[in-house]
Amino acid sequence: MKIVVLKFGGTSVGNIKRIKNVAEIISSYSKKNYKVIVVTSAMAGVTNDLVKKSKEISDNFSHAEYDVLVSSGEQVACSLIAARLIHKGLKSRSWLSWQIPIITLGSYKNSRINKINKDNILKYLKSGGIPIITGFQGINFEGRITTIGRGGSDASAIMLAKFFKAEKCVIYTDVDGVYTTDPNKLKKAKKIRIISYEEMLEMASLGAKVMQPVSIQDARLNRINIEVKSSFKKNPGTLITKKKNIINSKIITGISFTQNDAKVTLVGVKDKPGVAAMIFKPLSKNSINVDMVVQNISANGKETDLTFTIKSEDLKKTKKIISENKKINFRKLIFDGNVSKISIIGVGMVTTPGVTFRMFQALANKKINIQVISTSEIKISVLINKKNTSKAITALHNEFKLDH
Ligand code: ASP
Ligand code: MG
Repeated sequence: MKIVVLKFGGTSVGNIKRIKNVAEIISSYSKKNYKVIVVTSAMAGVTNDLVKKSKEISDNFSHAEYDVLVSSGEQVACSLIAARLIHKGLKSRSWLSWQIPIITLGSYKNSRINKINKDNILKYLKSGGIPIITGFQGINFEGRITTIGRGGSDASAIMLAKFFKAEKCVIYTDVDGVYTTDPNKLKKAKKIRIISYEEMLEMASLGAKVMQPVSIQDARLNRINIEVKSSFKKNPGTLITKKKNIINSKIITGISFTQNDAKVTLVGVKDKPGVAAMIFKPLSKNSINVDMVVQNISANGKETDLTFTIKSEDLKKTKKIISENKKINFRKLIFDGNVSKISIIGVGMVTTPGVTFRMFQALANKKINIQVISTSEIKISVLINKKNTSKAITALHNEFKLDH
């Protein structure tokens, strides 16, 4: 049985016209002899509205009731899609998570899918039916409704693809794929036709908001091919797959950037064992995520400078924590909220020497100063002044010929 999982996001089912269009997409797959499993999110804005209502009722809204409330949007979307398919003469019906059931573990609001019973759905698929399943929700061992975190219908789709051994999972959304960089920032950005899970994870966590990073990680672990495409346009989207499937890959696949980073420098810190730990321990205790870290070699063997980056929203808290930390001595504390992290990402850099040099040279040619550098196997990131963000992206996009 050739199974495909189709997931529709909120904007794709945002109104009646769009739901009719979704029904057309679904029927085109069943004509291609696929057994289709559909997962849907709630109509755009509905979940947010429900969350708002919960806050208006109580600032201490029961978590179990919250899940019953906010999962209801998916039920509406499911029945509308199923009914439209029936209207078109196809065999279809809706399935709420508890009817399957999709069993979850963990706490309300943030459960995770543990098991999916396949029997009824498989029978239905074999009989030629198209099941329309609620994303985002599940049921726990107490028989109560759960949800799996905001944006969770991506995860629902990936887990269904896993349990049903689907050939692929298609994520229909309002963007038509993953781009070499943000097209709003750089007009020349091009759609990436095929990208590895690893690269996509780096892109996603750095701000290419196409899919939930945890879902990409789940897809990677289970080797599920994901296609991201628009439900509004017919053109092909982006395939997220394993590295092996990518022949002829470019050195660099994409460029991502952040614009809400801040830089903290401690000048003249005592250079002795345990200092870095003493600086970072209270930050981690306060759930402040430290990203890039650099420490200079101390010239005189006594003192060193230490620089790290955090999210801008944590800047105030970080200032306070560092200034009040009696265990560390330093001469000066410098904060800079005007920085941006630019990263080039590509599995191709593993086997190609000179990528780092090319990146630095391209930035130097534009007189862009690099403040901090960090690298991983498939990513090089630099911290620069925020005002140079666009210039840097353009220079790197050209240098690595991403528009070709
Ligand atoms: N409707 C849910 C939300 O808005 C789940 C989803 O969209 O994936 O968070
Ligand atoms: Mg959504």
